[in-house]
Amino acid sequence: MPRPIRATFDLDALRANLALVRARAPNSRVWAVIKANAYGHGLLRVAEALGQADGYALLDLDDAVRLREAGFRHPILLLEGCFELGDLYVAAEYSLTIVAHCAAQIEMLEMSGLPVRMPVHLKLNTGMNRLGFTVSEFADAYERLKRCPAVGPITLMSHFAEAEADNGVAEPLQVFEAAASGIEAPRTLANSAAILRFPQTCADWVRPGIMLYGCSPLPDRSAEELGLRPVMTLTSEIIAIQNLRRGESTGYGRLFKAKSATRIGVVACGYADGYPRHAPTGTPVLVKGQRTRTVGRVSMDMLAVDLTGVADADLGSPVTLWGEGLSADEVATAAGTVSYELLCALAARVPQVELG
Ligand SMILES: *Cc1c(COP(=O)(O)O)cnc(C)c1O
Repeated sequence: MPRPIRATFDLDALRANLALVRARAPNSRVWAVIKANAYGHGLLRVAEALGQADGYALLDLDDAVRLREAGFRHPILLLEGCFELGDLYVAAEYSLTIVAHCAAQIEMLEMSGLPVRMPVHLKLNTGMNRLGFTVSEFADAYERLKRCPAVGPITLMSHFAEAEADNGVAEPLQVFEAAASGIEAPRTLANSAAILRFPQTCADWVRPGIMLYGCSPLPDRSAEELGLRPVMTLTSEIIAIQNLRRGESTGYGRLFKAKSATRIGVVACGYADGYPRHAPTGTPVLVKGQRTRTVGRVSMDMLAVDLTGVADADLGSPVTLWGEGLSADEVATAAGTVSYELLCALAARVPQVELG
């Protein structure tokens, strides 16, 4: 028998979440963001299930090539563009759409001598200060691309630093409008948070990531409230029971000490499976569908849960670490991180099952 840990992927939920994106952004086309192995959900699995998306956005050239070789004909957007000239030739060969966020990438296009016109997303920096041209550089960059024989249709792009915040997009939107005014080109701005909080940002294309996977990008709204369904559910089982007497501890560092006699379940799931080691005692977990808490330090292959008040818990009892019934957002918050990190960290050693 293999270890009882499993990641189950609900592909109906994935499609339902895409439908929710469409409902929220009815006039926009959708780049389904599938970077980082589709946020840990499996690149090809997710691309397949989201065949109704208008395009796929990701980071790695190799992943884009994998999609093409698997037969996908959708537009594919390389979110950071190409890092060297050789990559640009591959991107052209595979009909990819590239981002141009800096002068060096425009130079690459100019010197490429490519006989095709590549679709390019020209990226503006509206305050994230990671990638993108400044407002004062933007019009020139656009003109250079327009003149470049290797460049086809141009889309104007930016990315919000804080679309989950109350007043998170007003200033960047102003910056964008100022830089883009007078340029006749499609636009793309919105990530999940912006789609949900600021529908006025949806423009020609939206770029949802986390909401497709059923997690909430908003600190004050749960995924359930938003109508999102979890796609990844991480489950395991109790493989040992410990009856701690008062004062005894469980796990490395003796971080948790029982204040009274406490029944503890040892779960086959640890940080080598992707469960965050920094999740403290008290992180929510389900045992037999009943909510309880983790206790003590997460180890590489195991963690401990409090069985106090969990009716009929025993060896083999099912445990949900996150997903159906317990949002990854909630676990992430307890562990001082975001659901993105939990999903992306799912380890390759965890056996995977598909539903739907
Ligand atoms: C990751 C990413 C997205 C998707 O963000 P979510 O918060 O997951 O919706 C959109 N646009 C860009 C440029 C990204 O890098």
